[in-house]
Amino acid sequence: MAKRDYYEVLGVEKTATPEEIKRAYRKKAIQYHPDKNPGDKEAEAKFKECAEAYEVLSDPEKRKRYDQFGHDGLQGVGVHDYSRMNVEDISDMFGDIFGDLFGDFWGRRSRGTQSREPVRGYDLETTVELTLEEVAQGTEKTIEFTRQDLCSDCGGSGAAKGKAPTRCSNCGGSGQVQRAGLGGFFQMVSTCPKCKGSGQIITDPCRTCRGTGLIPCKRTLTVKIPPGVHEGQAIRINGEGEPGRFGGPRGDLYCYVRIKAHPFLMRKDSDLMVTVPLSFTQLALGTTIDVPTLNGTRKLKIPAGTQHGSIFRIRGQGLPDMRTGGRGDLLVQAAVEIPRRLTPEQERLLRQYAELEARQTGSESSSFFERIRKHFGG
Ligand SMILES: [Zn+2]
Ligand SMILES: [Zn+2]
Repeated sequence: MAKRDYYEVLGVEKTATPEEIKRAYRKKAIQYHPDKNPGDKEAEAKFKECAEAYEVLSDPEKRKRYDQFGHDGLQGVGVHDYSRMNVEDISDMFGDIFGDLFGDFWGRRSRGTQSREPVRGYDLETTVELTLEEVAQGTEKTIEFTRQDLCSDCGGSGAAKGKAPTRCSNCGGSGQVQRAGLGGFFQMVSTCPKCKGSGQIITDPCRTCRGTGLIPCKRTLTVKIPPGVHEGQAIRINGEGEPGRFGGPRGDLYCYVRIKAHPFLMRKDSDLMVTVPLSFTQLALGTTIDVPTLNGTRKLKIPAGTQHGSIFRIRGQGLPDMRTGGRGDLLVQAAVEIPRRLTPEQERLLRQYAELEARQTGSESSSFFERIRKHFGG
């Protein structure tokens, strides 16, 4: 689930110019385009990965944040969720990079022949960071992110006040053009490059949105996180993505969960695990220890003769399991810690103990060395 470095994805240096980034993206996108790799899921994933890398590195503001803070710096910046987007939408988003040269590839639309039928807005992604305690309880998080919204000055038309858009002369207002396909043998219908399918040309663009009809807006939302979520899981918030076109619905916002490391507890599905270092004498003689849980500490009895690596299960002290509705356990693993240095007094006593130990038979180590002697005929 870990994201790769965007520069690595596009195969460019950190110092690459915008032009180099554009060229690198163009090359990779053509290489991995699903039209060239039919049915190849890996190529499709790479195609989407490249689009995401390009979105970030081609935008000076996003690139700056990525350079400074890595993937974390892009939280709430409104990067599109390419993993859930279809290839046609991605091709359309960056269509202008590829221009006419790849019209056969990029102009083709699989859905709908009428360009003005409603098109759903793009999905966005963001991240929420949770502690294990929050995972256990479930929580509400306030997230802030930027998304493209309809410009309030022109209502999304992109035309300046009182200036209606005019019909596109290139496609006659249909939003589509016919062009010769491969070798000129057949005709292909594709989105009009001049008006990008809207059928309208804005002659006097709105100053606020520079004719795009969209402006970046900050949005704050409260997201309910159910208990038991996992790292990398996405919580979908319906209709909080970007606005649709031609009356289409908004896309969705996907909140990806990231879980902060806990100072003591490790997660294993719905169980929690902690390793407790204990001395030889504690394990041999038995003791009672404090173990960390998600809500304070609790006592655990370590019986005499506990072996290194033994696991004690405290039932119901783990995390909720979303599938079963049950709750995991807390697993406490005993680890023996050997003193690195002994005081003279400690050493004297240990040597005394070792003498007694040498005479003791029936332990695992004495029978182990006995077996070695027998095996090698010693
Ligand atoms: Zn506007
Ligand atoms: Zn047109």
